[in-house]
Amino acid sequence: MLAVDGLDAFYGKAQALFGLAFAVNAGEVVALVGRNGAGKSTTLKALIGLVEARGSIEFDGRRIDALPPHARARLGVGYVPEDRRIFTDLTVRENLEVGARGRPLDLEALLALFPNLREMLDRRAAQMSGGEQQMLAAARTLAASPRLVLLDEPSEGIAPIIVAKLADAVRAMKKQGVAVLLSEQNLRFVAAVADRALLIDRGRLVGTAGVDELMHPSEAVRSALGL
Ligand code: ATP
Repeated sequence: MLAVDGLDAFYGKAQALFGLAFAVNAGEVVALVGRNGAGKSTTLKALIGLVEARGSIEFDGRRIDALPPHARARLGVGYVPEDRRIFTDLTVRENLEVGARGRPLDLEALLALFPNLREMLDRRAAQMSGGEQQMLAAARTLAASPRLVLLDEPSEGIAPIIVAKLADAVRAMKKQGVAVLLSEQNLRFVAAVADRALLIDRGRLVGTAGVDELMHPSEAVRSALGL
């Protein structure tokens, strides 16, 4: 579903990513792990087109790296940013309707993934906890039926009970054949949802790790993660 090759990214003159190459298959959950500032968020932003980048990004067999973010989104790339960016003045239902972008909203399918949003449908997003907002942000992105979802630090600052619900939702996305690439510092969350992890350090991919390895990290993995 996603194939990346030679991906560089820049903030002005500062280069933040160096030659990333990796792939994510349909129905696969891959986690980008690395210490603060390693380049996880930048990788997701480069894939959706929010930072200056060069290199090849293929989505479902088609180059998308020259397209603007909205065109990538329209093709089926969903992006849930770290700061969530939901509409706090709108209700949960309205946020989901916006997410469907003019297409019919399959509310029941979304509520199957995020059952606890059902009782909040008419609540304004401003009145939700951070974790509930994160769930809404993910649900809103899924309302557009993406085939690849980029999730930036989904578990950050969220109560454990909601983290568990998010993990359920990610596993359900996988079951539906969605490809998921997430950035995470929380190795437990990664172990609970991911098929494998890509280790990123100072803007470079320095290895891959299976879920067992993350829970019992070798010296190389510990050093990449700054543990
Ligand atoms: P974190 O978990 O702290 O967000 P990260 O792995 O996601 O870490 P990035 O946010 O991708 O890291 O940052 C990668 C590098 O790019 C860092 O050196 C960071 O300082 C730099 N960087 C990130 N955003 C900007 C920006 N808007 N302008 C300039 N440099 C930036």
